[in-house]
Amino acid sequence: MTERHDFPAGEVPLRILVLGAHPDDAEFLCAGTLIRLKQEHGWHVHIASMTPGDCGSMEHGPEQISRLRRAEGAKAAELIGGRYHCLEERDLLIVYGEPTLEKVTRLLRETRPTIVLTHSPSDYMLDHEITSTIVRGAVFGAPIPNFLRDKNVGAPLPQIPHLYYCDAIEGKDPLGRDIPPGFRIDVSGVIDTKAATLACHASQRDWPLKHHGIDHYVQALRDWSAKRGKEGGVAFAEGFRQHLGHSYPQDNLLGSLLGIV
Ligand SMILES: [Zn+2]
Repeated sequence: MTERHDFPAGEVPLRILVLGAHPDDAEFLCAGTLIRLKQEHGWHVHIASMTPGDCGSMEHGPEQISRLRRAEGAKAAELIGGRYHCLEERDLLIVYGEPTLEKVTRLLRETRPTIVLTHSPSDYMLDHEITSTIVRGAVFGAPIPNFLRDKNVGAPLPQIPHLYYCDAIEGKDPLGRDIPPGFRIDVSGVIDTKAATLACHASQRDWPLKHHGIDHYVQALRDWSAKRGKEGGVAFAEGFRQHLGHSYPQDNLLGSLLGIV
């Protein structure tokens, strides 16, 4: 059991943090929502990845592709007026444990978000699932003063942030079962900017073709957003589920700010 510490009236911080496994995950899954929060409500946007995407290349070695991808992540975040952070874990080696909880807790306490977005707990690869679990744990621990007390991870948050899971890739779990979103955010008006953030990841535009047989990196984003949009009766949308476990915020702050479809 933890005690809730509500923000004082009129002092609600306007910050969102999305923490994905790899540098382009946020752009694919939730950039439209980030852009709308920035444009319509003036929120500060922080985009973080657990790794610099060091396995995401057939041509470049890990250090070279990491350098390229950190720069691409920074450029994409800059495009929407946000800031990019890399937690410097390594692809396919993300583990739940004290070192990763420490990094994520430090980031949470530095950026002090009201809303946190991460991957679906069930997703196509383990980096996504374990990132989701780490973020869930760190979000719970970030307001607890004794959590990692000796690790110099910053001042405890005033409360657990609102936690949301983005869609799994292709909206399905590892056994191929559909994972329907809890709600959708209309991103029709910002789809071109969303696509432009993904296009910043130039090193990745030919990589999915070689490894997964998926062509048209940016088209895949439009197709997926159009599928979620059609379900909600709009042109393009992004799907989310809210973590509603005991002691996490229960009100749908994201939905009430942007409306749901
Ligand atoms: Zn990923």
